Amino acid sequence: MYDIDKIYIDGQFVTPRATETADLHNPSTEEKIGTVRLGSVEDAREAVAAAKRAFPTFSRTTKAERIEILKRLNAAVASRVTDLTEAMALEYGAPQTFTRFAIPHAASSFLTIENVLENYDFERQIGRARVVMQPSGVAAAITPWNSNIGFITSKLATAIAAGSTIVIKPSEMSALQTQILTECLHEAGLPKGAFNIVNGLGNVVGAELSRHPDVAKVTFTGSTAVGREIMRNAAETFKRVTLELGGKGPNIILDDANLDATIPAVLRMGLINSGQACIAGTRILVPKHRINEVLRRLKQEIETFKVGAPDDPDAMIGPMVSQKQYDRVQSYIELGTREGASLLTGGLGRPAGMDRGWFTKPTIFTDVDNQMRIAREEIFGPVLSVIPYRDEDEAVSIANDTQYGLQAYLHGTDSARMQALADRLECGRVVVNGAPHEPLAPFGGFKQSGIGREYGVFGLEAFLEPKAVIAS
Ligand code: NAD
Repeated sequence: MYDIDKIYIDGQFVTPRATETADLHNPSTEEKIGTVRLGSVEDAREAVAAAKRAFPTFSRTTKAERIEILKRLNAAVASRVTDLTEAMALEYGAPQTFTRFAIPHAASSFLTIENVLENYDFERQIGRARVVMQPSGVAAAITPWNSNIGFITSKLATAIAAGSTIVIKPSEMSALQTQILTECLHEAGLPKGAFNIVNGLGNVVGAELSRHPDVAKVTFTGSTAVGREIMRNAAETFKRVTLELGGKGPNIILDDANLDATIPAVLRMGLINSGQACIAGTRILVPKHRINEVLRRLKQEIETFKVGAPDDPDAMIGPMVSQKQYDRVQSYIELGTREGASLLTGGLGRPAGMDRGWFTKPTIFTDVDNQMRIAREEIFGPVLSVIPYRDEDEAVSIANDTQYGLQAYLHGTDSARMQALADRLECGRVVVNGAPHEPLAPFGGFKQSGIGREYGVFGLEAFLEPKAVIAS
């Protein structure tokens, strides 16, 4: 049994003032594996006070000093990739096919931003003005459970590069991963208070951070509903906000697509991170005249996406993180049938041969209309909808007919045509033919997928305020 009973404030592991705990589970077995002691409003306030004390000195560190710190953070996290992977497997159920990429990527986020920092000018001359980019102030980060380690490292890395101090509130469901990561970060020997990590409930610690007058900026990844609440709280003191929220990405198969390459890519993007991903391409748009061929291939190909626990090296889809998430996904599968969609594959219940764990069957619905709730709401599980379209204009109109606008996918053979189509899509990122992630390019959403951008120069500037010093 794990007993996570410390949080990290002012350079030290300390015991939260509150005594309330939450249970931690192994989603592959449903067994309880430990508890986490939750932070209180007072703990959040102490963490903000520590970050505030550290800010005047830390915000004046030189670029060279921050580069050095980022290198140390990278080395500290990279040295415990195995421990972090095991924790993510146990507590979240992430398959090896995911952690193989996700954990090294999390460690590398320090080097990626270090690279941005090296080439970034914090000062530039504009006419008579010397324009200085200055850190906004103490930052707060609030992160979800679906990629706990990566969200913490990327937000922390960017804050450090900008010269901000930060208080991080991870998901209370990721405490085991957070504990190991915090040990790594502690090893890197940052100045006291530069970063602080407070486990706790969203409506307690998260709400306090999004209201606290000494927090100047909130960077949040999570659901659209909570993003809205954070924005409301932050408005009181005009905090800068970066909100990375939900998605319902269109996964568009063009009429000239080579299906041998396209079908596996469509499913990889649709089922990424066991479907528990804001960037998942969950609406598969298919030209009407190719629908039968595409459906046949999708049904065949999805059989190769093995569902299993993290100890199975071939598993590509793990369990849902919790009973609540399992129930939510099941309820959407039931809803799809009630709404009149047809099941191509999958359906209710666990995959054959599995009698425990929050595993769901990878499911594809056909005969889906874009107005159905299964096509409009984020399910956050391995449930995909196939929506036919007549021509390119209709594909664009269906793709954009959503409250979300995070990431879209295009599959075809004509590059120029796809570039032109990408320009018509209302979303923050368009991925062509399953191209790999570009960590320096901006990431974020249009519409209710969020506000602002992370990564690269755009991400760095989201922690900075321009100041113009004008002399005659
Ligand atoms: P969530 O919004 O329920 O929780 C996210 C975090 O916010 C948690 O740490 C939670 O404790 C905290 N929180 C909850 N209520 C709060 C409040 N009132 N004030 C402040 N903080 C509060 O999301 P989740 O269930 O952990 O994660 C799944 C959601 O995250 C999905 O909707 C998904 O689309 C979204 N997500 C978005 C991205 C992106 O980059 N756009 C990435 C991953 C996940």
